[in-house]
Amino acid sequence: MEIAVRAAGTDVAKARATLEKDLGFGRYFADRMFQMKFNEERGWHDAEIIPYQALQMDPAAMVLHYGQEIFEGQKAYRWDDGRIAMFRPDANAARMNRSAQRLCMPPIPPDDLVQATLTLVGQLAEWIPSSPSTLYVRPTMIASEAALGVRPAKEYLYFIICSPVGPYFPKGFAPVRVKAEPAYVRAVEGGTGDAKCGGNYATSLLAQNIAKSEGFDAVLWLDAKEHRFVEEIGAMNILFVVDGKLVTSPLHGSILPGITRDSILRLAADEGMKVHERPLSIQELTQGIERGVVTEAFGAGTAAVVTPVGIVGWGGKDYAISDNQVGPITKHFYNVLTGFQYGKTKDPYGWVRTVEVPARVA
Ligand SMILES: *Cc1c(COP(=O)(O)O)cnc(C)c1O
Repeated sequence: MEIAVRAAGTDVAKARATLEKDLGFGRYFADRMFQMKFNEERGWHDAEIIPYQALQMDPAAMVLHYGQEIFEGQKAYRWDDGRIAMFRPDANAARMNRSAQRLCMPPIPPDDLVQATLTLVGQLAEWIPSSPSTLYVRPTMIASEAALGVRPAKEYLYFIICSPVGPYFPKGFAPVRVKAEPAYVRAVEGGTGDAKCGGNYATSLLAQNIAKSEGFDAVLWLDAKEHRFVEEIGAMNILFVVDGKLVTSPLHGSILPGITRDSILRLAADEGMKVHERPLSIQELTQGIERGVVTEAFGAGTAAVVTPVGIVGWGGKDYAISDNQVGPITKHFYNVLTGFQYGKTKDPYGWVRTVEVPARVA
């Protein structure tokens, strides 16, 4: 794919000044973006890197009315030796296309998706903070055709924006308190829970607000049919250590197939740990916590990599896992994955891709 680089050099002074700030998450954006367009005559075309700017959109653009939108979440890491790396960008590309298929949006050749991401990230090297901060990368596809009527759009926009972000846990690796949600659901089998689409997030906000007002950090989602089986936590997959085995829900349609989850399952199996992808009920979980059989629980996702779960709230009661301490297996997977991502440990899987940074013309 030919990518036209239309923006003159990135504003290095602005990038440096931004990285000095308290970055938080998704507050600042790098000064260039990637975009490309789709229509039925030309397919995907006009791939370009342009200055970061507001989108020009018709108020009838179909994404605004019928929610045809999908996205990805990735990160670029700055290594101590100055190199830039990304983690399994091919997996994000594959998932983008699976999401596209679910929402009747046009696929993009996976190599083009990876190339677009790596090229933009290379151009934005100055915006990538050093460890433990990162550059968060957000590829997005929206239905841009101006038309009302419920059908798949005929025109789309694909863009990538990037945001330098601070560490997900500024106060360190602290266990979170989550509320198992008895009534609201995030996703249902046959729905879009296994696609990364904005609509899933809109659906999750109300329960999240209620949980926050009750002093919880996130929602532990249960299945939509029986309100029984544990599915995800916030916008992360969730894994448990039960009797020394790693247990997580199978990908049966309402679970987002996380790349972090997948990587951890692979690592665990290769390290000889027993891995069970099986349903785990909230009853088994709370009783297992009480009996000391469930010794660890953690969320898995790109944003925080691994998030230890310390307390599960259910039926008005708090269940503390291993005295609300971070467990050794949780810590281990965090260390191994971040070790690969920041180039501190050699990655035997070929998951890490270093990014070519173009030489600057001074
Ligand atoms: C993105 C996402 C995840 C995590 O996926 P990763 O590929 O590991 O970042 C988990 N659950 C939901 C609902 C998500 O949207």
